[in-house]
Amino acid sequence: MIKKNILFVLSILLLVNCSNDDEMTAPIPEDTTETIYIIPVVIHIIHSGEAIGTGYNLSNERIIDQLKTLNNDFRKKEGTLGHNTHPLGTDVKIEFKLAETAPDGNATNGITRVNFNDIVIDTTNDWFFDTLPYYGYWNKQNYINIWVFPFQPNLVLGQSSVPFIDLPGLNDADPNGTTGILITTPHFGTSDVVGGSNLGRTLTHEMGHFLGLEHLWGKTENANCTDFDDYCNDTPSVSRRTENCNGTTASCNGEIALTENYMDYTKDACMNMFTKDQVTRMRYVLKNSTVRKTLTTSTAINRE
Ligand SMILES: [Zn+2]
Repeated sequence: MIKKNILFVLSILLLVNCSNDDEMTAPIPEDTTETIYIIPVVIHIIHSGEAIGTGYNLSNERIIDQLKTLNNDFRKKEGTLGHNTHPLGTDVKIEFKLAETAPDGNATNGITRVNFNDIVIDTTNDWFFDTLPYYGYWNKQNYINIWVFPFQPNLVLGQSSVPFIDLPGLNDADPNGTTGILITTPHFGTSDVVGGSNLGRTLTHEMGHFLGLEHLWGKTENANCTDFDDYCNDTPSVSRRTENCNGTTASCNGEIALTENYMDYTKDACMNMFTKDQVTRMRYVLKNSTVRKTLTTSTAINRE
């Protein structure tokens, strides 16, 4: 658990500049529209030669079920683990759909499969995230690329690129960088993996990062309730992760911390909410970021 969390922190620290303490000059305009955005995704399953549905070569059913969990969480769907009755809990009104048209114009189920033994990584860049396109990379303006890579359980859960947009905490993102999300195979979808990250919420968390959210404590954890900010006013400020879900963890100002928030590190079974300000930030990023906004009009899916 500690190892996992350290790597989790490292992953986001690697992606964003830690020294940024900018304050917003103006609040993000609240998005009062009822528009439901639907975004195409492509899932690149990276395996070691197994038959489909065995080992690292995850079945179509598990992939489809993972997308359903992601949508349940983003839509706060009643009757699912993604529903909540918290007064701050908010429907993001963003949905994700497996691509139906591939970049070459042919029909697709939105899933690619590649044996990693067949891939030669020809780069001097030793940052792992930048090698992921070797396993498949569809036009980032039209698809969210999600790579499912075989790591051992609880080492790295996932990682996301950060959107390029003029918002505090995001000013240093690279618009030309590798764009997409890594989820490690044991934590993609529902599984029997131990440790609590077994219900597909790693993708919900990473999608939050992909759309501009920080962890609840901001970029850097510390124990002293100083130097923290996730740029969302309605999430009680915390200095570090919470590792339980009993609803009694105090925030820096004495309020109860939002341990059930997707941007904390609690177990998948505990998570069930994004707040209103988090939703405002994600929708603002989706509508305005250079390498996000075209996703809402991509023709890779049927929107009717
Ligand atoms: Zn994270």
